[in-house]
Amino acid sequence: MTTIAFIGLGNMGNPMAANLVKAGHTVQGFDLVAENLDAAKANGVAVMDSAAAAVKGAGTVITMLPAGKHVLGVYEDIAPKAEKGALFIDSSTIDVESARKAHAIAADHGLLSIDAPVSGGTGGAAAGTLTFMAGGTRDAFDTAQAILEPMAGRIVHCGDAGAGQAAKMCNNMILGISMIGVCEAFVLAEKLGLSHQALFDVASTSSGQCWSLTTYCPVPGPVPASPANKDYTPGFAAGLMLKDLKLAQEAAAQAGAATPLGAEAAQLYALFNAMGHEGSDFSGIINFLRGDGN
Ligand code: NAD
Repeated sequence: MTTIAFIGLGNMGNPMAANLVKAGHTVQGFDLVAENLDAAKANGVAVMDSAAAAVKGAGTVITMLPAGKHVLGVYEDIAPKAEKGALFIDSSTIDVESARKAHAIAADHGLLSIDAPVSGGTGGAAAGTLTFMAGGTRDAFDTAQAILEPMAGRIVHCGDAGAGQAAKMCNNMILGISMIGVCEAFVLAEKLGLSHQALFDVASTSSGQCWSLTTYCPVPGPVPASPANKDYTPGFAAGLMLKDLKLAQEAAAQAGAATPLGAEAAQLYALFNAMGHEGSDFSGIINFLRGDGN
């Protein structure tokens, strides 16, 4: 068992850190928000008064922060103060360019690093079943696997620095586009007098089958656990979907990839967010597409 610094104890970081404590690790945590520190303390995390204090004596440092600028700010602060040869794991969802810069900061200080964003949401974080998609050297990845294991259902090495973030934004672009497609089909079915259940029964076993339909169905009824049955309480908030779609669009512009449906999905989620729904589950966009998303 080892000492792990955990920086960023929000909705995702707190349950992730709790699972590391449960696995027997000593976790030294830091966050800017006092109530997040209190929640972490209740989960057995040793709460520190700065990121620099958290990395002292830690062989591994995990960050779970909002965006690239926060990750780079924290890396610049703590990389010079970290233990020699420590492993840095950034699990935040950030742009590929910032992820590569974070790797470079770590390398400049002789540290191992991987970008390892996650999918699975707060439910997966609490259950310890997140999918980690990792970018970095094979050495860093092999060292990270045992640390990630108590938080993970699946851990995939996607390639070199930034490849984890690339996989995350490609996956979430599929998710945003496919959710809108499924919502449009349900809205069309309603106009044609076809019941939700009938469309579900056919499409879930036909070529329209996808995760947005079978696991996360955007209408109440066919999949009882989906957010549609709880008035679109997230789940995965529309604000976070928009963040990920924008990251995909930035990456597409930089790489010269044509992603017209990704662009359209980003625009539709921008409108849905602008109407005040950034805190709703992203599947709630069906109400907007139906014309009653006020
Ligand atoms: P959150 O806002 O709840 O948590 C982020 C935490 O970082 C906050 O508690 C904040 O106080 C802290 N923070 C910011 N700057 C800091 C600093 N300099 N030092 C220490 N702490 C600092 O967000 P979250 O939902 O936990 O998401 C974290 C990351 O995970 C994001 O990049 C998000 O896109 C990604 N993500 C979220 C989900 C989800 O369902 N919530 C799913 C997958 C990925």
